[in-house]
Amino acid sequence: MSEFPAGTLMDGKRGLIMGVANKNSIAWAIAQQLAAQGAELAFTFQGDKLERRVRPLAESVGSDFLLDCDVTDDDQMEATFKALEDRWGRIDFLVHAIAFAGKDQLDGSFVDQTTRDGFKSALDISAYSFVDAARRGSAIMNDGGAMVTLTYLGSERVVPNYNVMGVAKAALEASTRYIAADLGPRGIRVNAISAGPIKTLAAAGIGSGRHMFRFNKAASAMQDNTDPKGVAGAALYLLSDLGLSCTGEVHHVDGGFHMIGMPQEAPLRASLEE
Ligand code: NAD
Repeated sequence: MSEFPAGTLMDGKRGLIMGVANKNSIAWAIAQQLAAQGAELAFTFQGDKLERRVRPLAESVGSDFLLDCDVTDDDQMEATFKALEDRWGRIDFLVHAIAFAGKDQLDGSFVDQTTRDGFKSALDISAYSFVDAARRGSAIMNDGGAMVTLTYLGSERVVPNYNVMGVAKAALEASTRYIAADLGPRGIRVNAISAGPIKTLAAAGIGSGRHMFRFNKAASAMQDNTDPKGVAGAALYLLSDLGLSCTGEVHHVDGGFHMIGMPQEAPLRASLEE
């Protein structure tokens, strides 16, 4: 039995999940929630090494539709969306949960560490890839479809070591609004979920990760870290008809961390002394 609430909200809907690397991936939590509500899923994976992890996960939600896709490779992007069109004709939704910056870019001073190549690659993989996927995806998407991307508070506020990824997330959020405006007349909704820190492969690449998790837990309104199931639930809302009329939003799912002006003293002190 899935630990995700079951139902029929996604019955008859088909879509692409981009960004599952393993069972800890946020995209995997979203995929499980959508499948539990009746969605039919296709998955991209990045290279043979990850296929070994993604294929059994996909099979566990009844999908044999896997596509090798590095988002920096135009031919692979082209082939991915062509394969979707060939097999399904149309899609109803798209999940983009992809980001990358070199480890050397995610530690220390932003102004000193950020190189031209590091900047270009972070923005290309983490922001432009959504624009590209949205263009290709919308060409085969039913009117009334929906898209979701994943972002983080480092776009709005300075988070130590998040550095160029914060700049990429700011570009991703702005892109979300522009794409939402372009696709709005077709009834296609485009939103971003700003998730609090979750232990995944991508999060492991950020310097001082341990401090980030302890601080977020102590300083959030709910005094807890973000549960991927909450992110998956928000994605279900935004991708299903529950989300009607909601577009161009950046929706925070972070236990209320983003809205706290000053954290409570006792939990913060305890976390810093841990
Ligand atoms: P993850 O490592 O499980 O997923 C990142 C995915 O990006 C992987 O599947 C990886 O293969 C893919 N990717 C990277 N470069 C790629 C490329 N060139 N081509 C194709 N795919 C590529 O980590 P995650 O935390 O689940 O990340 C998913 C999204 O959620 C990212 O956008 C991340 O920034 C965002 N996010 C994560 C957190 C967190 O704390 N984990 C918080 C907020 C937002």
